[in-house]
Amino acid sequence: MKPPDQNFGSDASARHVLNVSGGKDSSAMALLMAGRVRGQEHFKRDDMEYLFCDTQKELPETYEYLARLEAELGSKITYLNAKAGFDHWHKVFGGYLPSPQNRWCTKMLKLKPFEAHVGEEPVVSYVGLRADEDRVGYISTKPNIKTRYPLREAGIDYKGVIQILEDSGLGLPTFMKWGRTNSGCTFCFFQTPYEWIRLHETYPDRFEEAMKYETIDPSDPNKQFTWMSEGPLTDLLNPVRRDEILLSGIRSKVRTIDKSLVSVFSGESTSSVEACLLCQK
Ligand code: SF4
Repeated sequence: MKPPDQNFGSDASARHVLNVSGGKDSSAMALLMAGRVRGQEHFKRDDMEYLFCDTQKELPETYEYLARLEAELGSKITYLNAKAGFDHWHKVFGGYLPSPQNRWCTKMLKLKPFEAHVGEEPVVSYVGLRADEDRVGYISTKPNIKTRYPLREAGIDYKGVIQILEDSGLGLPTFMKWGRTNSGCTFCFFQTPYEWIRLHETYPDRFEEAMKYETIDPSDPNKQFTWMSEGPLTDLLNPVRRDEILLSGIRSKVRTIDKSLVSVFSGESTSSVEACLLCQK
């Protein structure tokens, strides 16, 4: 296995920064870069800066998990906040909610604070894409920021990530216990209807907060701003629709477990859609 290039590019004085999201992949990557993965100790960097771009709309479990990760790493995680929060940008964008096609949230609340923090110096940014993922990710394109993918370099896939988290004692983020797949904002539009319903059951107040951001103006077809492309969140409160979604979500989870077991026993790779690479979406 090739060790990471300690002097990335031509600049030996580059800063090395790693954004954690509070999710499993970036946490496993942080443990790898802290030299906590047996057999992969050559990845260790003592000069790594650990960052977290805090949108202040995160799940409580994310903060709790980051505090435990910080203890495991033995290094401080610096929290970066955008100068202006979600509500400010929501107004600037005329009430238009972010979506996979228009991710102003990632740009304004994650990328901009990160770019402002690192400034114009040469920087190596470490991103948590796994070896079994084929997506590119939403990353900074500033010329002074070079990107590395340590999990890919080390050949670490989904199964490897789980192993790292178990071996370290950190385990999986606790929001996964109630059905949320990824870290990120409570109202992230990447959630499935199943995850929205589980959010409603777990944090009804946060679900209601998300509902208040939606705009359904019957007189203006251009003013239909909803988190889900299939309709407003109130639809999910219909008991029939809710039960259908919960049932289909449980079936899909059983299929995923079956697939994971097949991959564990056969060594096949898996791929999953995850959220911004700064918020793992
Ligand atoms: S977690 Fe979702 S809503 Fe939050 S910044 Fe990332 S993509 Fe946007």
